[in-house]
Amino acid sequence: MPRVTGKGKLYSVTITHVDWSKDQTFYWLDQDECVKRYLVSEEFHDDFLARHHHVFIEYSEDVNLEYVRTCIRCLCDDLSIDVAVCKSVRSWLKYCTKNDFNPVRKAVRIDECSFGVQLCDHVENHYLGRYRNEIVEQRDAVLPNVLCGFTMRFNYWFDSKKGHMYMWRVPGIGKTELADFLMKGEKVWRPSTVNQYMWSGLTEEHEYVWFEDFRLVNYRSEISRLLSLMDGKPVSIQGKYKEDQLIVTKARFLFTSNEQDDVNYPEFSRRVEVLGVDHQMFCCPGGGGCGGGDVTVSNPSGLMREHMNRENISLV
Ligand SMILES: [Zn+2]
Repeated sequence: MPRVTGKGKLYSVTITHVDWSKDQTFYWLDQDECVKRYLVSEEFHDDFLARHHHVFIEYSEDVNLEYVRTCIRCLCDDLSIDVAVCKSVRSWLKYCTKNDFNPVRKAVRIDECSFGVQLCDHVENHYLGRYRNEIVEQRDAVLPNVLCGFTMRFNYWFDSKKGHMYMWRVPGIGKTELADFLMKGEKVWRPSTVNQYMWSGLTEEHEYVWFEDFRLVNYRSEISRLLSLMDGKPVSIQGKYKEDQLIVTKARFLFTSNEQDDVNYPEFSRRVEVLGVDHQMFCCPGGGGCGGGDVTVSNPSGLMREHMNRENISLV
């Protein structure tokens, strides 16, 4: 054994009885510039009432046990923490991920994790992602109701060829149908799993990035990349099995959501036009303040023409 004393770059940590998400543990570690790479997994006990976090940390320089313990202690009391020098990265990573197939990780590769993680990743990449697109392709297109002010505002945004859109409110008011209709035939990229590799499917070809059922809270680990990409800035993406790559996109981002919490995050909300649709768009008679009263629709007949063209080209 190379090290028995408490000093080194590699640490294994177990935090017992946590009542916070692994994202939060992840975030905490991310604040420390000495941390080079890490992984956090979750293990449930007693019918999901108790959970533990298993953590792997690699520091860029030697630190001692007390340093790690002090850092982790900010998350919880000392009694709940077990910190040890990690003697085998390979065994510890496999152990951490033996039951949690979706760990949060930074610079830890999939092939370092358990077989379960590798299998899930494979299924997601090769099957689920593809089926998700096929399901979208097969959805029935519904003609938008051009009388509704919200419909017109969304179309106005779409036609303007610039800016990002956040359309939200309760399910069943026609958000997805409206977006579906206009996105037919466009080069749309739909993100799936949230992790640092998620962006690698995004190319310069894509004109739109569409997050369905968006919850900002689910993207906390990727928020800085998300905001930079929305700003058209180059973003470095970790390649899963290859070198890091730089991604730039000119795509417009569309977020559809059933929740409001997202717009309360100013860094996000100032980058999007917010459309809070408060009634069913497809059966709306229009007029009388519908659409928020500040609708700027210069050419409603153009909208109708657009519908006809799209109908001929891409609708069943
Ligand atoms: Zn309306």
